[in-house]
Amino acid sequence: MNRFIQIIDEVSPTTFTVLVHFQGEPLMNPNIFEMIGYASSRRMISEMATNAMLIDEEVSKQLINSGLKKIVITIDSPIEREFGFYRRGGKLGGVIEGIKHIQQARRDKNSRYPLVVVELLALKGNVDQIKEFVGLCKKLNVDGIRVKTAHLLNLDDAENKVPMGTKYSRYKVANDGSIALKGNGSSSCSAPWFKLSVTHDGWVVPCCFDKSSTFIMGTIITQTIREIWFSHHYNNFRRRLIRNRNELPVCSSCPQGRTPLDFHIG
Ligand code: SF4
Repeated sequence: MNRFIQIIDEVSPTTFTVLVHFQGEPLMNPNIFEMIGYASSRRMISEMATNAMLIDEEVSKQLINSGLKKIVITIDSPIEREFGFYRRGGKLGGVIEGIKHIQQARRDKNSRYPLVVVELLALKGNVDQIKEFVGLCKKLNVDGIRVKTAHLLNLDDAENKVPMGTKYSRYKVANDGSIALKGNGSSSCSAPWFKLSVTHDGWVVPCCFDKSSTFIMGTIITQTIREIWFSHHYNNFRRRLIRNRNELPVCSSCPQGRTPLDFHIG
């Protein structure tokens, strides 16, 4: 918590938003409400992405009291019997209850926040459920509905994983029959100029696509964000990205700037 406070103190004068998730489930963090509350006290906008499996009445109240501004909840299937396939051990009914708890807590507090956005990760098995998903979200009267396209670390078997041939796939079958990312391979990416990501163990990486910490820019354990942000190492990464993103392993397979990452439906 102390480290989080230090970071927020350092970045809040020049940074607008903090996303309190990066791989893993943020509601499993015992300090999460305190962290969001501290960011709110420093006038930062906080957002969270969660599977909502831990949201009950009490958690909803704490989220509202913390000042959270947006919560993104994943529902990968609007069909109860299929939901557990995408969220092992999860129950669609439980997630719906979680959404209702948040909406009730907002009403009790007479607050507009957090805005509730519900998302479906489009895969080959659930792409034909999108209409039903949108219908469910509308019935729940959520603030935003979106369909996210899936990112694959390994393209083997891609045709059985993502809905190839639809707009909800980041990938296409190339002329030579191989699977390739859609879009222009030399498109630019501006991520390392306006954001960074911190892993649970303190490593700073340029963006949330670097899930395996391939490009470590520094560590918050021994460095300030300013030292990392303006370091020769970070600037060198930015230069390499401008010169040719395809030289960089994660960037070459990254869809940022090439193809839509999500579709906002309502
Ligand atoms: S191209 Fe992708 S992986 Fe590389 S810095 Fe940009 S967002 Fe991150």
